[in-house]
Amino acid sequence: MNITKDTVVTLHYKLSDGQGKLIEESSEPMVYLHGGYDNTLPKIEQALDGKAAGAQVAVQVEPADGFGEYDAELVKVEPRNLFPEDLQVGMQFEGAPDADPHGHSHAHVFTVTDIEDGKVVLDGNHPLAGMALRFELNVIEVRKAGAEEIAHGHVHGPHGHHHDDDEDDADQFRSIQLQ
Ligand SMILES: [Zn+2]
Repeated sequence: MNITKDTVVTLHYKLSDGQGKLIEESSEPMVYLHGGYDNTLPKIEQALDGKAAGAQVAVQVEPADGFGEYDAELVKVEPRNLFPEDLQVGMQFEGAPDADPHGHSHAHVFTVTDIEDGKVVLDGNHPLAGMALRFELNVIEVRKAGAEEIAHGHVHGPHGHHHDDDEDDADQFRSIQLQ
């Protein structure tokens, strides 16, 4: 079966930066509902469309098509005393929602990047912002999506969406935590 709208795709992926340095490799297969449901990057869907199990596809993604350009305005310096005692570099905080130019309101996640002299540096950019990325994708399985999956816009079952989880619909590539 080929990957078309409303198929469920199981794949392994390897993510590298523009210089070919490995950023992340899937340990569990990634499963997503194909067809513009915003479950993964549009560039990845484009590259996989029409492919079948066994296909190996490499996709080059520029920042604008990935996690955005690096925005220096999203770096903030705040007084240390606003934060908990056990503050550490790498901790994340959700900032106040602000409206983007399209009028959507969304909260940035800020990562602590430095603690010094009573100040804390917070970076609201996605850890992969500003980076050219290369995905190596290996399609393992393609199946038809069920009516309920199509209605919900995501995959159910093993590795898919579980409704007893807290409702975190963030797709996997967008929620990568860097070491
Ligand atoms: Zn569902």
